[in-house]
Amino acid sequence: IPGPRQLSVKAVSSGYDRADVLKQVSIEVVPGAVTCILGANGAGKSTLIRTVLGLNRVRTGEVRFGETVLNDMPTHKIVALGIGVIPEGNRVLPRMSVVENLQVGGLLQSDTRKVAARMEEMFAIFPRLKERRSQLAGTLSGGERSMLSIARGLMTEPELVVIDEPSLGLSPLFVSEVFNIVRRLKESGMTILLVEQNVRQTLDVADHGYVLLQGRVVASGTTAALREDTELHRAYFGVH
Ligand code: ATP
Repeated sequence: IPGPRQLSVKAVSSGYDRADVLKQVSIEVVPGAVTCILGANGAGKSTLIRTVLGLNRVRTGEVRFGETVLNDMPTHKIVALGIGVIPEGNRVLPRMSVVENLQVGGLLQSDTRKVAARMEEMFAIFPRLKERRSQLAGTLSGGERSMLSIARGLMTEPELVVIDEPSLGLSPLFVSEVFNIVRRLKESGMTILLVEQNVRQTLDVADHGYVLLQGRVVASGTTAALREDTELHRAYFGVH
């Protein structure tokens, strides 16, 4: 069994048109820990995720997962390597039941017994989803929908999971619930790349992180150090 693989982004530039959005960005996602990417609107967080997942081309630099170079690799192959994605906005399939949503999450897995076993693991992490297993996803509360979208993203048993702005659009009560879920996933040993705008709660759950400002990493380190970093405050509030 190979050891845990580290995701590394090394001096990567990428963008959409002519100008680069990401400029020489380097990050490391340490196995078994929560690494966060913080930054205000438009800082380049989504572009960074898109580049890691092969949705934006790496123009210069290198993205690696363990020994494997991900540059120019199609997204489905990157996902098949063991990198899972939980997209922003807690999207679920509203007219399908909880179980059906999880089955859709397991579509990559052709062994139905493995899908069933993984679903039981998800129900162990999220007992509420088990209680609501036959309920249509559209009738769940906001917090339950977050749980379902996260559980669905974990159905493929990713080695590393990218969680994109999980608190986006949620009321404060559900935001806390989402961060509790991330905390539980961390305790279960998952490797997590958490992209968020919610600074305080993200720093509470993450181990280390990076602050993006205008496509560059302007601060990085342990969350304890980042908390004290004036660059973090500047990245959000523009104060010096
Ligand atoms: P948000 O939190 O609002 O999603 P973000 O930190 O994820 O912000 P990005 O979405 O990566 O930031 O955007 C970074 C820059 O890239 C912005 O200047 C944005 O205008 C630009 N950009 C984003 N998507 C595109 C696109 N499809 N085409 C051209 N430019 C884009």
